[in-house]
Amino acid sequence: MKITQHSNNLRQITFLGFSNCYLLREADGFTVIDTSVGGCAKQIAAAAREFGGEIRRILLTHAHGDHIGSLDALHDLLGGVDVAISEREAPLLHKDMTLRADEPKGKLKGSYPGAKSRPTHTLTDGELYGSLRCISTPGHTPGHMSFLDERDGTLFAGDALTSIGGLHPVTNPPWYFPLPKMATWDFQLADASARRLLECRMVCIATGHGRLVTNGRVELERALENT
Ligand SMILES: [Zn+2]
Repeated sequence: MKITQHSNNLRQITFLGFSNCYLLREADGFTVIDTSVGGCAKQIAAAAREFGGEIRRILLTHAHGDHIGSLDALHDLLGGVDVAISEREAPLLHKDMTLRADEPKGKLKGSYPGAKSRPTHTLTDGELYGSLRCISTPGHTPGHMSFLDERDGTLFAGDALTSIGGLHPVTNPPWYFPLPKMATWDFQLADASARRLLECRMVCIATGHGRLVTNGRVELERALENT
């Protein structure tokens, strides 16, 4: 496990060298964004305490196993804090893989292990959740959601983008890190979502896999040149 502190409000915790979750300080404590793979709950909770507070809520970008792996253990450990995920992604959290009538018919990819924890809140596009503006970014999964911290412009892009070996749309990663692309459901939607993120006033970009990208807008424009 590696902890990287980016500001007084933000810590990045990286497991297995490639799987990120984030501790974001809000007025009442921390929001943890994604929970990485299984077996990380105690370390995430300890990292929050060491950062000076308690986790108040768990926020999920999407329902893949490397983002919800420690959800149940963390939820149990914290005594039932709020859990939030997009309205569209919520069924995938309990392994309901049914596609909606207006969605592309491609097969869902990647691991959806499900969880026993139920969302206490489902998110809709444009909603403000704490300091985070919710931005619907489907494609990697049907209900993938990104979050913009409106206080400082940190964009939490989940697997809409990856930043191992530089910033890339999930459909066009470097050859040595193909996993998020292999787990992507619909490439066309994923590319449209990556382009949609250009509309937001981001300063830096925090992804599910890879380093924090500090010059977010310039790097995203560059990354999208070839899509
Ligand atoms: Zn994913």
